[in-house]
Amino acid sequence: MTLRLFNTLSGQLDPLAPSDGNVLRMYACGPTVYDYAHIGNFRTFLQIDVLRRFLRLTGIEVKHVMNVTDVDDRIIRNAAEAGVPIGAYTAEYERAFFEDLDWLHVERPEQVARATENIPRMVELIQKLEEKGAAYRTEDGSWYFRLAAFPAYGKLSKKDLSGMEDGARVDVDEYEKDSARDFALWKAAKPGETSWETLIGRGRPGWHIECSAMAMTYLGESFDLHAGGEDLMFPHHENEIAQSETATGKQFARHWMHVRFLLVDGRKMSKSEGNFYTLRDLLLKGYKASAIRLALISVPYGRQLNFTFDGLTEATNGIERLRTFRARLTEGAFAAGENPQLREMAQTAQQNFRAALADDLNTAGARAPVFDLVRSANTAIDQGQFLAGDRDAILAVLKDFDSVFDVIEDHDAEPTRLALEWAEQTGRMANVAPELLARQSITDEQVEALVAERAQAKKQRNFARADAIRNELTQKGILIEDSKDGVRWKRK
Ligand code: AMP
Ligand code: ZN
Repeated sequence: MTLRLFNTLSGQLDPLAPSDGNVLRMYACGPTVYDYAHIGNFRTFLQIDVLRRFLRLTGIEVKHVMNVTDVDDRIIRNAAEAGVPIGAYTAEYERAFFEDLDWLHVERPEQVARATENIPRMVELIQKLEEKGAAYRTEDGSWYFRLAAFPAYGKLSKKDLSGMEDGARVDVDEYEKDSARDFALWKAAKPGETSWETLIGRGRPGWHIECSAMAMTYLGESFDLHAGGEDLMFPHHENEIAQSETATGKQFARHWMHVRFLLVDGRKMSKSEGNFYTLRDLLLKGYKASAIRLALISVPYGRQLNFTFDGLTEATNGIERLRTFRARLTEGAFAAGENPQLREMAQTAQQNFRAALADDLNTAGARAPVFDLVRSANTAIDQGQFLAGDRDAILAVLKDFDSVFDVIEDHDAEPTRLALEWAEQTGRMANVAPELLARQSITDEQVEALVAERAQAKKQRNFARADAIRNELTQKGILIEDSKDGVRWKRK
């Protein structure tokens, strides 16, 4: 089964497969570590995680490179305000970023490349551009890319560049202009700013050259896929193409994937709008990492997603349904035999799940057949029509689902515990929801022990003790369910 993925460059769905061997070489633009990332940023990284995991399900391995931008205008400004070197300033945010990825169960890229550790590669690339007449130095010692040297400029974003002014320049890292300009490759050192002494002078790299240099260093001059959020298409990715293709004369990335935004009330979630939540904000409100993961990936990458708390609650309930169902399957005792109808339903669900993902990573289309199957199988169990031989086919569907969605297996306790520890260390306990504090007052092991003691008390017909235990658990937010398959408990 080959994945057909929308390619921004060709403007159509193209099959995505490695051009060479069985390893797909991909580059994804990573974070700028000047602050904690927000869940809009994580939506992009989560959707790239969905891509990686689905490719693996179809037998393709990836070599995934991600940069960490650890020097830029904002970092220099913030570090100066804090009175620390930029490395000391970015370390905390880089650490938090990877911790957040772990909490969301986003797989780590095979290679992480820090901008400050790859300066010589960037300098070499700028020298190469100068040899080709595509880079020039200004009086202050900065370097710019000459846009006129790359006539194909605009081919990714399909922008009409007829109003392009030859020689007009822009030197900020982030800009959004309708007309394209010569952009900064290298910024001359200003007094007091972090800078490097190099063959092209003293200064620091621009943002765009970082990605071109690091992508080609780790993946070669041409590679399979380049990904990022939709805001990076222009100018960042357009500039990467211009620099790289001018330097090598070869196609840079064959396939371009752009993840559409996470919105709040119809506007892009962003630091500058002030309408953002970090992962830690949401964990301290009591939402589980799995629910945040599911909510952010359930709408396919190619559609914008409006963030709401209802969406998180819906995801929480959906995961609960899946977990309860799986426990019912693995713990229940069923009569021997097989129900051919269920087996067929399981096979169809599995096929539809994979087919939806193969169709431009349609995550919404992929989860629907799995939830439908859970509903039908629950009904079959209720009606005593579920047989022992049906179990494996259905568990196989859940396994496929979780190899991509990764929310059924319960990893939620750890991120919540660590976020609380972080809140304590950084003076943020005021942001913690009271329900979460109440819930944390009892560990899973303590609940298990009380549940076992209650069962023992009931056996010995000590109903007063059994009731007292139930009350204690209820007060701590634990719900107990007695069923014919045994006692089950969950947190409210
Ligand atoms: P940054 O750290 O700002 O460079 O962003 C890291 C990644 O997050 C980039 O791929 C951005 O395109 C992406 N991104 C930023 N804001 C959003 C958003 N609201 N929704 C989805 N992705 C975003
Ligand atoms: Zn980039």
